[in-house]
Amino acid sequence: MTDFPPSLWFDTANDAPQVPPLGDDLSCDVVIVGAGFTGLTAALTLAEAGISCAVLDSEAPGWGASGRNGGQVNPLLPVHSPDYVYRMIGQGAGERLVQAALASADDIFAMVKKYRIDCEARQNGWIRTAHFKGAAIKFEKQCESWRRAGADISVLETGDLHERLGSTAYEMGAFMPAGGCVQPLSYARGLLKAALGAGVKVFGESRVTSLEKSGDDWIAKTAQGSVRASKVVLATNGYTDNLWPGLKESVVPVISIQMATEIVPEEIRKSMLKNGETFADSRRTIYYGRFDVAGRFLLGSLGQSDSFKDGPQYQRVARETVTLFPQLEGIKWTHRWGGRIAVTRDFMPHLHSPAEGVLAGLGYNGRGVAMSGVVGRAMAAHILGAREDELALPVTKISGYPFHRFHGIGVRAAMHWYNLRDNMERML
Ligand SMILES: Cc1cc2nc3c(=O)[nH]c(=O)nc-3n(C[C@H](O)[C@H](O)[C@H](O)COP(=O)(O)OP(=O)(O)OC[C@H]3O[C@@H](n4cnc5c(N)ncnc54)[C@H](O)[C@@H]3O)c2cc1C
Repeated sequence: MTDFPPSLWFDTANDAPQVPPLGDDLSCDVVIVGAGFTGLTAALTLAEAGISCAVLDSEAPGWGASGRNGGQVNPLLPVHSPDYVYRMIGQGAGERLVQAALASADDIFAMVKKYRIDCEARQNGWIRTAHFKGAAIKFEKQCESWRRAGADISVLETGDLHERLGSTAYEMGAFMPAGGCVQPLSYARGLLKAALGAGVKVFGESRVTSLEKSGDDWIAKTAQGSVRASKVVLATNGYTDNLWPGLKESVVPVISIQMATEIVPEEIRKSMLKNGETFADSRRTIYYGRFDVAGRFLLGSLGQSDSFKDGPQYQRVARETVTLFPQLEGIKWTHRWGGRIAVTRDFMPHLHSPAEGVLAGLGYNGRGVAMSGVVGRAMAAHILGAREDELALPVTKISGYPFHRFHGIGVRAAMHWYNLRDNMERML
């Protein structure tokens, strides 16, 4: 049995459809490695087009970042503005990616509706805040660029921002009505149920240990079985291991942590995020928060370790909660957990095709709830015969971080530096 991290989501999720470990040798059209949002969306899309698929995960479906994230469905690319993206990857490819990102939140809520996924889905908007003047200036420019690309995003007057957020900690913010939230583990399990219903074979506790070419096919081997297929989809994001040479080195796994409180009294809830919005700020260590449907408050940030036992990082988040929202002083914390996001060198999501019949989609840089659906569908479209210039994102070569093996030291040092910079900037 897979051990899930002790998250609020695990305690409140809908029951998981049971999936066995792979214990046999199977054949199908496509084998998918990783049963998170990316892998399950690809599988569901393919199965509905009549393609037979098997999905294998080392743990249980939804065990990775998909079952542990903040559940914020945010439709903007994490770092770059559309104008920057056009310069980076070309106008045509850039426009396809930007438009796909802009539609990505609506896509999730459409999936929830189509498959009747019971996952506390709410599309009540997203407030993005700037933590100091420099960030506000940069963010206003980015908003302009996103607006020119067609985004419905409006800068909030300071008074309006304080009123909506229930906090006077930020001077500048913007509102995007397309944003929203889900209970992420229930969403993953809903996708799983839909995929199983469409005929996908899903196996848990089935780590793929090798991928070997055999004639025109690939054979994915696990400890107790194998799947032969002509196509392979790698959907392992921050949990990517050495299965495909060089893929692990193309992302740095960075920890994001989350904490959740007991149910906050209604009087207090009326004073913050009262329309059910989510929020995220512009700090390098990113603070992001929301309520769940029962009224528990969640705050997350980048962290150092995904262990719930690493006290100091959670104390920092707890302290910051009360700085941002003094009305939460004295509220008890009930859950804390962490997981891995995948950071790429250019802060862009990537679709790779490193060999005939093999696709890999990853690198959401902490903004993957909505984007994983885009990438999962793009990989399915590629397999179904779409031209590369029709896909939501370009097919790029795998490009590794230099000195990747030292990433642990680098990330820890960067986190200290980020904290320091964020705190200094808050004082400006
Ligand atoms: C704490 C936290 C908070 C976050 N908050 C947000 C948020 O609010 N909004 C947002 O947009 N994004 C957020 N993210 C990011 C988002 O969760 C991820 O980008 C997204 O879930 C990635 O989905 P995925 O399916 O690609 O990968 P994952 O869900 O991580 O799944 C990868 C799977 O691959 C499996 N795997 C790896 N290697 C193998 C192998 N060899 N064989 C078989 N299986 C294998 C793993 O077991 C894992 O289940 C957050 C992430 C974390 C950790």
